[in-house]
Amino acid sequence: MKKIFVFLMFCSVLSLHAQLRNSDVYEITEMNYSSVRNEIHIPDVEGYQTLKCDFHIHSIFSDGNVWPDVRVSEAWQDGLDAIAITDHIEYRPKKEILKGDLNESYKIAKKAGDAIGFMVIKGAEITRSKPLGHLNALFINDAMPLDVEDPLQAIEEALRQGAFIMWNHPGWPDDKSTFYPVHDELIKAGKIHGVEVFNYMEYYPVVFDWCKQMNLAFMSNSDIHDPIHTSYGIENNVRPMTLVLAKERTVESIKEALFAKRSIAYFHGMLVGKPEHLKGLLKASLKIRIINEKQAEITNISDITYRATAGSNLYILPAQKTILFSIPQPETVFTVKNCYTGNEENLTISASDFDIW
Ligand SMILES: [Zn+2]
Ligand SMILES: [Zn+2]
Repeated sequence: MKKIFVFLMFCSVLSLHAQLRNSDVYEITEMNYSSVRNEIHIPDVEGYQTLKCDFHIHSIFSDGNVWPDVRVSEAWQDGLDAIAITDHIEYRPKKEILKGDLNESYKIAKKAGDAIGFMVIKGAEITRSKPLGHLNALFINDAMPLDVEDPLQAIEEALRQGAFIMWNHPGWPDDKSTFYPVHDELIKAGKIHGVEVFNYMEYYPVVFDWCKQMNLAFMSNSDIHDPIHTSYGIENNVRPMTLVLAKERTVESIKEALFAKRSIAYFHGMLVGKPEHLKGLLKASLKIRIINEKQAEITNISDITYRATAGSNLYILPAQKTILFSIPQPETVFTVKNCYTGNEENLTISASDFDIW
């Protein structure tokens, strides 16, 4: 009788953790994370959907080490809404062993994305040494005509296809973000639309000002080459991402929003963008409950910890937490330390902006 009881107990433990596949095969269901996604909580802003996007990703078809459909699984599991596959046009060290043209990596990723309703954008990286450097052409139709000797001609062809042109990692590899005359000409002609302020693990403070002064979209991307978690670690699931304020959850809407410069660069708790977008995101992140004329509760519903100062006071609003807060005077101005509107320039917001006075 005792033996039977032990056996039954063993069975019930097994059934909690495993699923019987057949008479002698159990699958440890709890170990299967292939269909489990981390959610990133960043609220929608003023009638726009806040979409979490990575517009700079390499696969095995250029100098990456990951098959394109795995890029989709990684991004879906990391809680993103869209990625662009942006293999180098000119640098494809494995082309001798891989069949397929410059569109192949997108095709493989798109098929995987369609199967799970995940948005994949067709892109390519036009890759030259400085002064021009590297530029991503996003939302192209066909990467093949971009394979030309003159990089300016490649940009023209991408523009002819309706591309959004992003200047990549301006601070790499000389550890200095240099603004060359060729960039000035391209930006003045409306042929560069955005620039990376975060790339991989780097950021370029001087570029915060370029975006502000020249109305370029703030971009933040992983430029990932290896498996995402071998680069950022298992625990660090928040890679650099561009938050796009889109009218709808579609590739067309993402494109419209980027051309309209509705984007916020986000990495490692830092946000860089236009004051109105950052202010909107901050307000959407904080829910305020008045307790009495002196005290309020502020709940930060986002995954972003905000740090603000007013005078000599420091206020920390931890992600996903509620704090008790002494209600300040309406004219109090807060400087939000992790929100940047320019190089050495932080978002400021007055207490009266919070509609509780
Ligand atoms: Zn590059
Ligand atoms: Zn790249």
